[in-house]
Amino acid sequence: MSQLPQINTDYFVDFLIKLLNIASPTGFADPAIDFVEKELSQFIQLELSRTRKGALVAKWAVESDVPPVALTAHVDTLGAVVKEIKKNGRLKLSRIGGIQWPTVETEGVWISTSHSEKIRGSVLIDTASGHIYSAAGSETPRSDDHMEVRLDARTTSKQETRALGINIGDCVAFDPRVEVTNGFIRSRFLDDKACVANIVAAIKSLADAGLNPARSVYFHISNYEEVGHGAATGIPPEVSELVTVDMAVVGKGQESNEFSATLCIKDSGGVYHEGLNNKLRTLAEKHNIPYKTDVYPFYGSDGEAFWRAGGDVALALIGPGIDASHNYERAHMDGLNATTNWIMAYLLD
Ligand SMILES: [Zn+2]
Repeated sequence: MSQLPQINTDYFVDFLIKLLNIASPTGFADPAIDFVEKELSQFIQLELSRTRKGALVAKWAVESDVPPVALTAHVDTLGAVVKEIKKNGRLKLSRIGGIQWPTVETEGVWISTSHSEKIRGSVLIDTASGHIYSAAGSETPRSDDHMEVRLDARTTSKQETRALGINIGDCVAFDPRVEVTNGFIRSRFLDDKACVANIVAAIKSLADAGLNPARSVYFHISNYEEVGHGAATGIPPEVSELVTVDMAVVGKGQESNEFSATLCIKDSGGVYHEGLNNKLRTLAEKHNIPYKTDVYPFYGSDGEAFWRAGGDVALALIGPGIDASHNYERAHMDGLNATTNWIMAYLLD
């Protein structure tokens, strides 16, 4: 097929904004998995299931002599849990996935209690008041010991905070702050919700055009990527190729940008599969998809998690360029559409 089906960009943006606004730190990603499952349930071509670990697997089966392939993307994000309730009633946190403190200083948070209640608050340095600490406030290290959550509830003691229903281990989710301007989407956690949206939009475009993938496909929506083992399970053994769809690193020294998709050749974990890489390059060139090749300095992917767990597949990693990753991220529709098109080209090949 030389012509790819149209992408419904309104659908893509609408789905992505909704997904970004569902809190889903690793270990607490069920609401996001539920949302994706509900969305995919409208496509009768797909057979949906969950792994015991909680990942979503959507199989699109077709008649074919060649073995099935798989794509994976993750809905879990950076976040935190309550580590300690301090004497002043504020919360000390333990970070999930290593979010950098300066990137969330003053950010709004929701604490989800084990009784399903939500309590609002914000992240502050413990020397926050300019009228008390003045310049010293800037010098306080942004570390686990100095960052705290101030709750929007009346509490000045451990007991009062406990009485709100807050316990050690409760999930703390940082506000994503989604904004769409001029083709740019600015938000936390575009890593990797943007790529989940790419996969869902590709499925929709194919389904709306009445097309089927050339081979049976498993779409694996992972829920433990940010801690390094999301796709270690859930990819069936008959799968011959796995394409990880995850963000591309944009910034100093990088080839990737927000207006293209990237094929990652190497990251911290090592080198991807040359044969599958070449197949993806050929497809991008055939369909005039803007793409870069790149090397990511501090990066590991769910595909590598599958390799480490013993997965015997050809493995590649593609995704849209995301500026300021694991910080206040930004993507552009050009790079996002390039990724959706690349997924479709791969599925139809
Ligand atoms: Zn990611």
